[in-house]
Amino acid sequence: MSKQTITILQLYPRDMNIYGDYGNALVLLRRLEWYGYTPRLIAYNPGDEFPSDVDIIIGGGGQDSGQGKIQADLLSIGSRLKKLADADVPMLMICGLYQLFGKFFKTSTDEIIEGIGLLDIETYGKSERLIGNIILESEQFGLLYGYENHSGQTYLGKKVKPLGSVRMGAGNNTADTFEGARYRNVIGSYLHGSLLPKNPQIADFLIETAVVKKYGEFSNDVIDDSFAMRARRTAARRPR
Ligand code: GLN
Repeated sequence: MSKQTITILQLYPRDMNIYGDYGNALVLLRRLEWYGYTPRLIAYNPGDEFPSDVDIIIGGGGQDSGQGKIQADLLSIGSRLKKLADADVPMLMICGLYQLFGKFFKTSTDEIIEGIGLLDIETYGKSERLIGNIILESEQFGLLYGYENHSGQTYLGKKVKPLGSVRMGAGNNTADTFEGARYRNVIGSYLHGSLLPKNPQIADFLIETAVVKKYGEFSNDVIDDSFAMRARRTAARRPR
């Protein structure tokens, strides 16, 4: 059994971790173990020292107030995160942190929460919240299932591509049919649920990218995904 280590950094779990987003960390830990690696999970909260050795970075959603709390710290580590993204480190940012990886989130009360601009996106809070189960079609990942709950509506700039197009639900906004954003190996998305238990193809994308970058090769041995497949079948039947 390999003793190769993969380190996952979870950004701001204290303030940015709602609607089950911690499940994304659990899925990465378990799948890495199943593939024979030694996973390490580090929580990063405001004021913590940013670790030097990081292979996968994840972050979750939060209330506008939680976003306000972590914003200054996020801005202080923004250039490190950008360097890591440009070095092709895989990242998954959900909802509140997806928004703040963009240029800014202008809340429905007209407060501007500046983001780090790693993703070329802008978000505007609206009075209507977009809430419910959501299904996407993604070229690379196929069908994706999740749950969205946000007031922010996000618009993509030229330097990002969408994660997928919406089959059921709202996604980034009510004006176009896109959901999420991608830049290099960074994925931003509104999909809670959590996302990875029902969409293991994205977990494997993050894992494979990290492992190949660090160790040169990855063997995607067959693992038992029957529970994930059951979760997908159930999600597919859920109403909006
Ligand atoms: N506070 C943000 C919004 O309402 C993000 C919400 C979330 O992370 N679910 O748009």
